[in-house]
Formats: sequence, structure tokens, C-alpha cells
Amino acid sequence: MIQLKSAREIDLMAQGGQILAATVETLRAAVRPGISTGALDKIGEEFIRSHDGATPAFKGLYGFPGSICSSVNSEIVHGIPSTKRVLKEGDIISIDVGVGYKGYFTDSATTVAVGEISAEAKRLLAVTQRALDAGIAAAVLGNHIGDIGAAVQAVVEAAGCSVVRDLVGHGIGVEFHEEPQVPNYGKPKRREKLVPGLTIAIEPMVNIGGPATKTLGDRWTIVTLDGSLSAHFEHTVAIAEGGPIVLTRIA
Ligand code: MG
Ligand code: MG
Repeated sequence: MIQLKSAREIDLMAQGGQILAATVETLRAAVRPGISTGALDKIGEEFIRSHDGATPAFKGLYGFPGSICSSVNSEIVHGIPSTKRVLKEGDIISIDVGVGYKGYFTDSATTVAVGEISAEAKRLLAVTQRALDAGIAAAVLGNHIGDIGAAVQAVVEAAGCSVVRDLVGHGIGVEFHEEPQVPNYGKPKRREKLVPGLTIAIEPMVNIGGPATKTLGDRWTIVTLDGSLSAHFEHTVAIAEGGPIVLTRIA
């Protein structure tokens, strides 16, 4: 069942979303060669908890051990932070974070360069960011969930990259994962209609190589089957009369 949010609920999500946006910026600024993903997790958790009433939504979600997901290079999503995983120059790291605040959840992700990265990695980050922007731009009244996926897919495939299909965006708010699913592929005017009060996480996961994935032996980390680099950008968005409201961008 899709749970539409009132203006009051969207305002609470926007408040949590601002804490999340600041968390993502703090983590982005902390990324450098030599830091471990476990250290980033600690920074993220402490930053979130420094805001009264805010909690790291991922901690314990389905049993996940971290406060952030940290996915390096060919890891797409759900990488487990570890003090043994030390970033090195040329890596890319996808950082995915969720915040719970006053009963509502928000979700955001970004992919960050560790020092100087290759031209193809830079291009992957730019393409994935552009795909997210296109998906958000399509999140307008009159469109359907399929229009978002079609917009994301068009940007990604025009750039010669591929969209991960095994994982999708989602409704969010009272629960971390709500209906509807928000695939990063699809056809215009298909799936659910976009209506005011719908709150969704739009989150393209883009591979330089093929779209196929596999799960590592830790049962969490999802990687590209062909070992190619993958990037992930995500915002929580509210559908509204005046156009999409990005709840997890610094206001
Ligand atoms: Mg996320
Ligand atoms: Mg999400």
C-alpha cells in the first residue's frame, strides 16, 4: 500500500533530510586516501546522533551492522564498513546513508572520488549524477513511476553505461522501504501515477560494464558481475503541485 504524506509529514521528512544532507556532506569531506570505511561509519553515526532525535536508520535495518553503506569500486551497494577497508588514491566510494527523525525516514547516497581518479571513473560519476537529476526532473504530476525510470535509463544508456536492474528505488517515510518500487529503467506512463504526497527515494545505480550483479559471501555486499566500476546517487523526493521537492539536498 502506498502511504501518501501530509504537508506536516513532509515537513518532518524535510527536517530529517537536512540532517541527512549535512551528514552526507560531512562524509564526502572526510573521504581521502588512507581513511577506512569503518572510520567513515563512525563519523557518520556520531554526526547523525549529534542532532537531537536523529538516528542512523541503517543500523540494525534487516540486521545491517553499519550506520552507512560503503561500497568501493565494483561494489554497487550494501558494502559493510570496516576499519580493515582502507581507501586508496584512485578508488571511488559510494556512501549511502539513512536518517530517522521524529518518526520519519529519509535516504540519500553519493559517490565520491578518493584523491585523483581515472577519466572513466570521473565520467561514470558525472553520468550517474546526471541520471539522478533527470529522474528527479521527471518526478512531476501527470507522470508515472515509469517516466522516472525511463529518464534515468535514457541518460545512462546514451552514455554507454548500464542501469542495475536487480535493485530499485522505493517509497519512503513511515517505513524505510515503502511501496512503490522505483526502478531505474522503464517506459513512460507505466506503473503508478505520481500524486501529491508521494515520497520516494530515486537512486540510480550505474555500471560502466554490464548490468548483472552478484552478492558476496558476506551476504550484504552487491558487486558488478563483470568487476566493472559502479556508482550510486540518491535523493529522497516529495511529489508536489509545484514540482518535485528534494528533501535531502542542502537547503
Ligand atoms: Mg540509500
Ligand atoms: Mg534507498
